[in-house]
Amino acid sequence: MNELTYRRPRDTADALEALAHGQGKPLAGGTNLVDLMRQNVEHPGALVDVSRLARTIEGLPDGGLRLGAGAKNSAVAADRRVRERFPVLAEAILHGASGQIRNMASIAGNVMQRTRCPYFYDGAARCNKRAPGTGCDAIHGVNRMHAVLGTSASCIAAHPSDLCVALALLDATVQISGPRGDRAVAINDFYRLPGDSPHIETALAIDELITAVDLPAAPIAQRSLYRKVRDRSSFAFALVSVAAALELDGTTIRDVRIALGGVATRPWRARLAEDALRGQPVSEAVFRRAAELELAPAVGHGHNDFKIELARRVITGALDELAGASR
Ligand code: SF4
Repeated sequence: MNELTYRRPRDTADALEALAHGQGKPLAGGTNLVDLMRQNVEHPGALVDVSRLARTIEGLPDGGLRLGAGAKNSAVAADRRVRERFPVLAEAILHGASGQIRNMASIAGNVMQRTRCPYFYDGAARCNKRAPGTGCDAIHGVNRMHAVLGTSASCIAAHPSDLCVALALLDATVQISGPRGDRAVAINDFYRLPGDSPHIETALAIDELITAVDLPAAPIAQRSLYRKVRDRSSFAFALVSVAAALELDGTTIRDVRIALGGVATRPWRARLAEDALRGQPVSEAVFRRAAELELAPAVGHGHNDFKIELARRVITGALDELAGASR
């Protein structure tokens, strides 16, 4: 049995004081951390219960929104401002987990959730993310759910989040407090590629705390969607998911944003496809070519080879659907 302490801080400063010794973990909904503790993957010396802190959703002067770190996923998905200004985010949340889990899970907890690679949870398996330097049993193992983009020789685990794919599309910013002050990190810089140190996943230091996630105003997001292909229609992680937003000038693509889930080691902003699409005429062939460009660097590991073609098709279909709605 692992001994641990439990503390419920009054505010952010109190929480940071509790995290200062590097032994603590913030606990919000517990929908991932408690599983990781049960599976003997995480062994915090202290649980710092931040579940009652920063639960509000506030407007920003530019028309954007500040999602408190402790705001529940279900509350964010139901918020009228989110549904009207950032429909892709509401859709992504509603495609994740179950209603019960969404009622518990927090924004910051979702940002920090860890991979569902089964070898990561299996103490008898080799896993560089859980035990650095031991190897990766997924690369030559059962890897149907694993990533094809952003992988390395050390790790091919897919990032599990739906919500964070929408955050990547929306150019969200992670607000962080810590003993060295406050700072903001763009979500697309927040996640590290695995490289040769897959155990280091984000830009967050062990003594820092996420306080909010900001969504800047984005008129393009008013016409956005989230499409997810999974093995069953509820409570399953993505095989491939696509967040997309499109702005047309007649039949020409004025602006476009695309982000991918289920296929990459982090929420994946599809910059190659976006750059190829701007200024192009709307057509299924143009969408398909852009999708092929984005997936050109993809590498399958056998069981997950199918994700490459599936991702091309889901990107093409999502853009086609948005273009149809825009005309
Ligand atoms: Fe571990 Fe990553 Fe390999 Fe999975 S893919 S076993 S998380 S190193």
